[in-house]
Parts: sequence; structure tokens; C-alpha cells
Amino acid sequence: MNEWNTPELIAADKKYIWHPFTRMDKWCAPDHEPLVLVEGHGALLRDSEGREYIDGNSSIWTNIHGHNHPAINAAIRHQLELVAHTSFLGFSNPAAIELAREIVALFPQDTLTRVFYSDDGSTGIEVALRIADQYWRLKNSRKNEFVAFENGYHGDTAGAASLGAAVMFRNGPTTWKFPVTRIAALAELEKIPAAQAKKIAAVVIEPLVQGAAGIKLWPSGTLQGLRRWCDHNEALLIADEVLTGFGRTGTMFASEQENVLPDIMILAKGLTGGYLALAITLVTEQIFSVFCRRSAKSATLFYGHSYTGNALACAGARASLAIFKTDNVLEALKPKIKQLGLGLDSLRRFSCVKEIRQCGFMAGLAVENQELAARICVAARKFGLLTRPIREVVVLMPPFCISASQLNQAIDAITNAIVEVCQEPA
Ligand code: PLP
Repeated sequence: MNEWNTPELIAADKKYIWHPFTRMDKWCAPDHEPLVLVEGHGALLRDSEGREYIDGNSSIWTNIHGHNHPAINAAIRHQLELVAHTSFLGFSNPAAIELAREIVALFPQDTLTRVFYSDDGSTGIEVALRIADQYWRLKNSRKNEFVAFENGYHGDTAGAASLGAAVMFRNGPTTWKFPVTRIAALAELEKIPAAQAKKIAAVVIEPLVQGAAGIKLWPSGTLQGLRRWCDHNEALLIADEVLTGFGRTGTMFASEQENVLPDIMILAKGLTGGYLALAITLVTEQIFSVFCRRSAKSATLFYGHSYTGNALACAGARASLAIFKTDNVLEALKPKIKQLGLGLDSLRRFSCVKEIRQCGFMAGLAVENQELAARICVAARKFGLLTRPIREVVVLMPPFCISASQLNQAIDAITNAIVEVCQEPA
């Protein structure tokens, strides 16, 4: 018997909740019936009406080993019996210490060696920018500008620090709106005049693929080219691996595929296996050491949140990392990446499909327009697939644990949705 009162839940949601990135007038309209998700097992989610779906966007790109994974559940339960959360300001905790050790061990020795914890991708990026800005000031340099890429997405915090609390941020930047030059491609870096290039503190990129831009892949060699430019111009290279980190592109980190080590790397989303909010801003010892010089005045990084280094999240992240080894996850993913590619190829026959993009175990299906993509995603629910479009792109990015037959089912669901919405022959 169904234990959930769906109409009552939806009514209360519409009465009390404000959803992110959502037109709330449309959400609250009487004919809109949001799904209320109540359970998850492996790659499947169940709603309050008992209907089952494949989690086609890995719960907003976070889940990797599946829902309700016994090892992650056990690790979080074990930590819960000890303590859920303690302050990381002035204190430490074993889960955060061990996780930092394990993350650093994933990189070549003496490269990325220091872990700064925060809560999500956006705050991880925020930390990276503050570190880069303060790093150059500590070195008495006037580098304080950033380069980023058009259509890139790095999160949505911005205003909080600009609002005030100046007394808290002694010697912080004078403006919180960091100056950013946006470029469309690597070649444009060369066009930056030498006088401006000297002022570039860091270049920020989503390596290999821009996710929120619609799974747009960079030409091969982009990251290496950036590394060379940064080295030549003494700028830091910041790799935003919030989405790409932890296997999503087929390797543990996307940067590996171009043999590039950034100076700062941001990890979030898959870090806890998609269980809890946690981010890491990972920096080189070289950067960290500048904050430790005895002569350095004001070398404190004035940043940190109440839940920094949360023990439950760190315990979950440790368990998620361990699964990569115990289940040989990256090897097991290889045939699924192939299968995804073949399945997507079969969708090229539809005239409403304009482009198919794949990077590892994530894919984007560009259709004629935004409205069509939204309708295809809604129709796919009937066929057992949950996903969400990015503008005109239907995203397919399931958890790595998805079985071969579930992956076929996901492709079939998109096929059926296209046939229904675009009225094209099957
Ligand atoms: N960076 C990238 C590449 C992302 O894709 C996202 C979110 O989609 C973010 C940063 C922001 O992460 P969060 O939503 O956890 O703040």
C-alpha cells in the first residue's frame, strides 16, 4: 500500500517551497504535478505514487555508485554513531583528515597537496578565486584579473561577500566582483595584450567539457594549451572538476586525459557519491607555502562555513572513494561508455535531433529548441526515465552502477519520447 499522500505533499510543496532555477508561477499552477521522489536504489528512483524511474541525470549530476549503496550507507551510519558534525574552525576530525590524505594520494606526489573543504561546487570555486587573488597579493604582485570561458558555468554564489561584514574579511579584496575577461576559445588567449596578460591571476576552465553549456566538448589539446599559456604568463590554472571529477569523463579526473596538472582543482558533486554536500579546493604546496611564510602579513584565508569539514559528508566521501577500488569502477565503466555511444548513435535517425555530444559517461542530445527538449524529458517519464534538459539539450548522465539492460531502457525511453513528441516514425 502507498504510504505517501501525494496530493497533500504537492499542495504543501506549492504552499511553502521556493525551488531553485524554477519559474514558481508555472510550478504552482494547478495543472502542474511535480514528482515527489521518496526512495532510491542503485540507478533507480521511486516516486510517492510507487512509479519507478532510471535516474537519468544522476540526481543533478551528483550520484555515481547508485542510491542506497550499502558501503556508503554503512560509513555514514558508523560516523553518525560517533558524531555528525563538529567545528572545523580551530578543531579537526578524523574523517576530514583521512579523506584529505586519500584525495591527495590520487595525484602524483608533491603536486596537489592541500585540501580546503567547503560545501558545494559554487563555494569550492569561490575559495579557489579567493586563494588565487590572495596568493598574488601575498607575493606583492598586482595580478588580480581572471580569464574564464564564454558559456562556462562555475556556480551561482556571488552577492553574499559583497554585502558586508568587511570587518570579518580583514585584508580581503577591495572588490568582491573579480574582474573577468571571457574568451570563447584557447586561441583568444594569445590576443590578450601583453600588458593585460601580466595582470592575469588565473585562468579557470571546466576541463574537457562544459557541462551546463550543453555538454560541449573542448577541442583536444585545449587544456595543454592553457597550461602552456599559464606557465608562460605566470598565471595559475584552475580546473573546475566539480562535474568531471570522479570518473564522469571515463578517467578519475578529466585533466588526466591531457596529462595536465592544474595549480588549483575544485571537486564537488560526485565527491560524496552524490550523498551529501561537500566540496574540496585542492591546491599545490607551492601556493599553500606562500600562505605560511613567516614574513607574510595577513596570510590567513578568511573563508569558511559552519559545516566545513562535515564528518558525515567526509565519511561518505571516503566510502565512495573506496568503492572505486573495490568495484573496479573505472574499468567496469568502459563498456558502458561504449554502449551509451552506440545507443545514442541510434537516435541520429530522428530529424529533430540536431547533434549528439558525449564525453565519457555523459551525453547531450541537442534537439530543435528548448520547448521540444523539455517536452521530450517530460514524455520520457512515462517510459521510466527521469532527466532534465539544459535549454535545447536533453541530458543523459546516469549513475555508473546502471546495468546494461537499464542503460538500454534509458535509450529506449528517449527514443519513445522523441517518437511521441516529435511525431516521427519509430
Ligand atoms: N562547476 C561546474 C562545472 C558545475 O557543473 C556546477 C554545477 O552544475 C558548479 C560548478 C556549481 O556546483 P554547485 O551546484 O554544487 O554549487
